[in-house]
Amino acid sequence: MKKVKKYLVLPVVLVLSISFSLEASAYKFNDDNNRFFKCSTCETAYPSYSWGDNMGGSSVIKSAWQSAVSDWKSKQSKVEFVYSSSSDSKLHSYHSTDKSLYGEMRWTSDLLKFVTKFNGYINNNANNITTTNVARSTANHELAHAMGLDHVSGTAVMNSSRDRATIYLPQTDDVNGINARYPVFKNNVLDEPILNKEPEYNINNLSISSDILTFNSLEQMASNADVIVMGHFNHSKGTINMLRDPNNPKEESILGYQKGLIYDFEIDEIISGNVSETMIDIGLRSDSDYFFTDRDGNEKKISIDNPLFESPNTSASYILFLSKDTDLDMYFTPFEPFKLIVDSQNKVNVETNLNEFQSSIEKSYEFEDTKEILNVISEAHYNWIDNISGTDVSDVKNIIKGQRMK
Ligand SMILES: [Zn+2]
Repeated sequence: MKKVKKYLVLPVVLVLSISFSLEASAYKFNDDNNRFFKCSTCETAYPSYSWGDNMGGSSVIKSAWQSAVSDWKSKQSKVEFVYSSSSDSKLHSYHSTDKSLYGEMRWTSDLLKFVTKFNGYINNNANNITTTNVARSTANHELAHAMGLDHVSGTAVMNSSRDRATIYLPQTDDVNGINARYPVFKNNVLDEPILNKEPEYNINNLSISSDILTFNSLEQMASNADVIVMGHFNHSKGTINMLRDPNNPKEESILGYQKGLIYDFEIDEIISGNVSETMIDIGLRSDSDYFFTDRDGNEKKISIDNPLFESPNTSASYILFLSKDTDLDMYFTPFEPFKLIVDSQNKVNVETNLNEFQSSIEKSYEFEDTKEILNVISEAHYNWIDNISGTDVSDVKNIIKGQRMK
């Protein structure tokens, strides 16, 4: 299925790369080929949205969503988001202890790949989220996922390793992607025929794509972590809801659940930062709850995996880059990647799913009672290049210390 889609996208990309430049054709469509419905003679799709969780009053997050709606409107004419208080597509704010997680877009699409509902989230606890334009950059990124775009490298709001303070508006590549996603008169033509093998079943697709902070160099990692330690993981000893009450992060959120597995980590050496304990608790985000509304209108709880989660190896020696959560007295992920394994030759290997292009997780749920199938894609296409594996531990420490003294 995936391969077929790639070939179908390719001709469009080739034509553009001949007429423009290579950078102008970098955009990619999501795996599920989603888009908003517009009538075949219409110029513009008008998806509606309303405010979701934690959006009362004014906030950096709410302004970011509002700016992004008008940013996209000013950059192209294919999709225009329209506020409607009765819309069941919602824009939210939440507080996740995973500081690498800027935001998420979750959307359902039907057999014709039209988006039936979307829910966008921005994490008010993400790294530097209150820095000017950082939240706005995330909002523009998340809206583009709902419109149909996947991650890319290069100058684009869809690049996860962009500088969010400067690349916060839809860029040329992003706009080209949207224009290509909504061709004139062709938006109702399917990219490929879909055979519903079980016609008595109603098929739904749910996709999730996140905006994650990624770094390519040890220098960036060193200057963006609270603490950097070397040591060993013990087995997972419990779980925590990483979604917290935004007004009181000591309490868990009652509006959602993001499972964090808690690991004891035994510190052998503090490379940088202030840590007084020799044993610390680290929370790693594993999966989240999502509610699917079936055709009878009932909500069904399903669980969505974080494609970047990987169980730590309890017999390996690690160098970890961490952020400290003072409300919970625990440590979490500040960015990806954040784990280096030290091998027997004293060289480091980055442990991450970022470089595995096919690390998206696909799951299928079948609901007998309403005769529905829900295909879930948790997308993880990040353009990350490993420049770090193979470095000597002593060099890693020197780079970290040199960077932290600046
Ligand atoms: Zn994303």
